[in-house]
Amino acid sequence: MHKGVYIDFHTHRPTTRNKDVIAVASIDPSEGDSSLHHYFTAGIHPWNANIKSIDNDIAKLMALASNSMFIGVGEIGLDKLKGPRLEEQVEVFEKQVGFATSNSMPIVIHCVKVWEELLSAVNKVPKHIPMAIHGFNGTAQLAMQLVEKGFHLSVGSLLLDSKSKVSQALSIIPISRLFFETDSSSVDIKLLYQVASDKLNITTEDLKIQIAKNFTEFFNTSALP
Ligand SMILES: [Zn+2]
Repeated sequence: MHKGVYIDFHTHRPTTRNKDVIAVASIDPSEGDSSLHHYFTAGIHPWNANIKSIDNDIAKLMALASNSMFIGVGEIGLDKLKGPRLEEQVEVFEKQVGFATSNSMPIVIHCVKVWEELLSAVNKVPKHIPMAIHGFNGTAQLAMQLVEKGFHLSVGSLLLDSKSKVSQALSIIPISRLFFETDSSSVDIKLLYQVASDKLNITTEDLKIQIAKNFTEFFNTSALP
């Protein structure tokens, strides 16, 4: 494993990256094509869920599958506060979970305030399909529950707010289940690693090595593209 690599698990701004950062871009299936040569995940965001177009969207995901940079399905999920009614979100989510399962791809999930519905929607996903909650900002109790269910948790810029729920919960999350991400923010991924390693009482170097290992296992791919 290459020392010194930072992993940005989930970003919508993949362009401004340093050499020592491996960023996973999160895109809509319509934005993908065979020329993308950085790692990406693709999926219909719950805010854009539309049952009328989902079959067409799944076909677009299938078309991307020949690109080896397409390493996961997401972000997909459920959101109580935004997007179409929950029933439609669930249907669109489950179709994409089905795509991920039949193609043995990991799943990157967006979930806001509908944890019970989420857990029941992923209930039948086989154990060998890794799943991560991106932008996690829950209590230590929720973190524990999700970890027990097998989820990885990806933590973003809210870590910089020492009063945020995830700041309080961070040390509960096993380091083998942890990721960091910039998402849509302009925060530097290196700052997140620095703050996290302070909170976790390990060196940034050790944290980088562990997260790169998590990356390799989660996406079943090398941390060196
Ligand atoms: Zn996102």
